[in-house]
Amino acid sequence: MIFAAGLALSGCLSTPTPLAPGLQGSVGVPNQGVLTEAEELPVRGLGFARYRPLSTHYYGRPRLVRALESAAASVATHAPGGAPLFVGDLSAKTGGRIAGHDSHRSGRDVDLLFLVMSPAGVSRPSPGFVRFEGDGLALPEASKDYIRIDVDREWWLLRSLLLSPDIDVQFMFVCHEVEALLIDHARALGESDDLVLRAETVMLEPSDSLRHDDHVHLRIACAPEEAVSGCSGGGPRWQWLPAYPVGPSLTAQDFADIAREDPFQLDGVARSTAALQSGDAVDGP
Ligand SMILES: [Zn+2]
Repeated sequence: MIFAAGLALSGCLSTPTPLAPGLQGSVGVPNQGVLTEAEELPVRGLGFARYRPLSTHYYGRPRLVRALESAAASVATHAPGGAPLFVGDLSAKTGGRIAGHDSHRSGRDVDLLFLVMSPAGVSRPSPGFVRFEGDGLALPEASKDYIRIDVDREWWLLRSLLLSPDIDVQFMFVCHEVEALLIDHARALGESDDLVLRAETVMLEPSDSLRHDDHVHLRIACAPEEAVSGCSGGGPRWQWLPAYPVGPSLTAQDFADIAREDPFQLDGVARSTAALQSGDAVDGP
């Protein structure tokens, strides 16, 4: 019992257990966490399809799945008739490590292949994880035809995710060159300074992993209600994100009442008192 209480207090639990019923949903940090109450992304829907239809790594927080579905649908409405967005891995049903990723463990990460088109501007299905050069062009292996990033539809996708009521974007990992193409396009469209600043802030080329010149890795931030059920880390708390809940302020009387009801404290007081009375040494904390 003391062991269980100690674990809960120290925050060392790595998986939700009956000993820690308050932990649920996205638990822990993206590269060490787990996931409960996950939702699976359908094999396909309006404007999107799974890149690996049979994979079991298509689970995430329900709100992430909702946001992906509505952002893909928004692109399909904005530019009808285009190829679908191909969605790479999310997480396993119960989270934890999956092959090929350090993160993707807590239902807050997803890989999005680029939306692409022919050099002449005709939408094309993405051939997969193909590396694009700084000019937005790529020559897929075993192909004679270049493709390029469909910057307008890609921006619309990321814009929809940034403005989604279901999620707050923590990061969009993508290489500098693709970020520059997207931000230039957003500026040319006359997007608001606020939206462009947010996009520039969350787009990041990681220094310790792949450059992300072949896909965008989206990570969502913990929602305030998730933070109290175990969701943590994965990036800074951007200034525009909703604040985490603040606990009630306690009075001196509250602290005194809590201390009086704490069995360890009572036990300690009792032991200290007994030790003092007997003259024995008292163990430290
Ligand atoms: Zn990823």
